[in-house]
Amino acid sequence: MRILVIEDEVRLAEYLRKGLSENGYVVDVTHDGIDGRHMALEGEYDLLLLDVMLPGIDGFRVLRDLRAHKQTPVLMLTARDKVEDRVQGLKGGADDYLVKPFAFSELLARVEALLRRGSVSAQASTLMRLGELEVDLARRKVTRAGKRLDLTPKEFGLLTLLMRRHGEVLSRTVLAEQVWDLNFDSETNVIDVAVRRLRAKLDEGFDTALLHTVRGVGYVLEVRE
Ligand code: CA
Repeated sequence: MRILVIEDEVRLAEYLRKGLSENGYVVDVTHDGIDGRHMALEGEYDLLLLDVMLPGIDGFRVLRDLRAHKQTPVLMLTARDKVEDRVQGLKGGADDYLVKPFAFSELLARVEALLRRGSVSAQASTLMRLGELEVDLARRKVTRAGKRLDLTPKEFGLLTLLMRRHGEVLSRTVLAEQVWDLNFDSETNVIDVAVRRLRAKLDEGFDTALLHTVRGVGYVLEVRE
């Protein structure tokens, strides 16, 4: 799940980036309304966190221009609990709003609620199956042969990507970029370690393996006869 944060208070933006990343989201941040509008329109995001007062153009304008093209869920962050701000935001197509200062736990709850709601309208894409493996994106729940697998947010992100592109060998570089939002650095073995842990949860105790290593290339999730 990819989230765009458009917030000009640098410390708040970094706090959001860190907290959301720790919860398994891939986060992009911009501090400017014009860049934010461009990124929101051109990029593929599951959710936007949008401040109202921004340099360049304000959050209401970003929202209006976005809504002319896209229905990405938007959670607005407002500085004051001004009724007119709230009304303007919701009228302009915001899905929810939060008044600063807010607790991170509250933000996270709103984000999760919006992402769930977004996926209800596209239910076909919230449930993915491969053989006896089932991934429920809305509930963030994974089962194999009916047995619940307890995954960390990163493992869940990794599995979701492998599942979406099952049968295709994904390189470490692709995994690093898509799941960790890192440029792959050959010194780090973070990907191999995460894959090993995921594989232990996914395949151990079952007759067949689903997660395979393709030596020198990467990893693939598939059912093999
Ligand atoms: Ca601001």
